[in-house]
Amino acid sequence: MHEPEWRKQLRELATGTVLFDERMDRHTSIGVGGPADALVVPESTAELGRLVALLRAGGIPVFFVGNGTNLIVRDGGFRGVIVVTKGLRSVRLEPRGEGRAAIHAAAGAALAEVVALSAREGLAGMEFCAGIPGSVGGGIRMNAGAYGSELKDVLESVDLLNGGGSFRRCTRSALQFEYRHLALPEGACVLGGVFDLARGDRGAIEGRIRGILGTRSGKHPLQHRSAGSVFKNPRGMPAGRIIDEAGLKGLTLGGARVSEMHGNFIVNLGSATARDIIGLIGLVRERVREKTGIDLEPEVKIIGEE
Ligand SMILES: Cc1cc2nc3c(=O)[nH]c(=O)nc-3n(C[C@H](O)[C@H](O)[C@H](O)COP(=O)(O)OP(=O)(O)OC[C@H]3O[C@@H](n4cnc5c(N)ncnc54)[C@H](O)[C@@H]3O)c2cc1C
Repeated sequence: MHEPEWRKQLRELATGTVLFDERMDRHTSIGVGGPADALVVPESTAELGRLVALLRAGGIPVFFVGNGTNLIVRDGGFRGVIVVTKGLRSVRLEPRGEGRAAIHAAAGAALAEVVALSAREGLAGMEFCAGIPGSVGGGIRMNAGAYGSELKDVLESVDLLNGGGSFRRCTRSALQFEYRHLALPEGACVLGGVFDLARGDRGAIEGRIRGILGTRSGKHPLQHRSAGSVFKNPRGMPAGRIIDEAGLKGLTLGGARVSEMHGNFIVNLGSATARDIIGLIGLVRERVREKTGIDLEPEVKIIGEE
């Protein structure tokens, strides 16, 4: 399909937002990234399915984005279409017997919303997600976690649109969760998940959430834009401590800096480019390898053209 033709078809098919040549710094928490050829925000799973089918048929690359909080887009932008799941926002409660309930959440809902609903309903298990700024879909794809828990611990099932265009509900046992990763077939999109939670004491749950948010604001550089933890913790060792002990806190490249507050955060001082951030990631990796022999593996996703 020639580009003008697919753009026309995309505009005709989409009922929600369609933006062409849209700068990705507006859609990532770290605030860098050149233009995507197009960015769409489908309003239903059916629409998402139709859009993806159209793009696949035309051989147009597709990349799914939730809240863009673990994502760096290079300065040259993305050749293809960014599909943002923010239009799929439903979150509902399903009471179950025996002191349990489930929360069904669509991909574009904020993890924070699931945390808030679970606390209101006195359901325990989601507290560890307090302060993780991602969406449900991004969280599931990344198997987001903190304080010893991960999303796989509370997920009962995940709804997927697979690369071939069919919808499928997968139980947790049928899915391959790893540390900060869910292995999915090429091109699959997470449409939502079902969280299975036990009833607990509402006051205690709210207390744990307040405690976690307090700890986070004392440890994370929340006054600056970032993409969260840059590197995975190698073999359970905190990457932040390794970077700190290598003396790299404060290391700066252009508008990007290794946070003085937390070694595993690279912050945008205001004028950073993706080149600065990615260059600094490379520099930290190199210096850590030289000093310790450890090869840090990035947790953040990097896409697009130089
Ligand atoms: C201040 C701060 C603190 C953070 N703290 C934590 C933390 O404690 N623990 C933690 O694990 N993470 C943390 N993060 C990182 C981030 O919030 C999580 O990884 C989150 O789960 C990413 O969700 P997202 O919607 O922003 O994903 P995005 O950044 O939009 O995408 C991340 C990846 O998921 C894929 N993806 C997104 N949606 C879908 C979908 N529907 N289907 C298929 N693939 C999809 C994308 O293609 C991409 O590969 C933090 C980030 C920040 C900025």
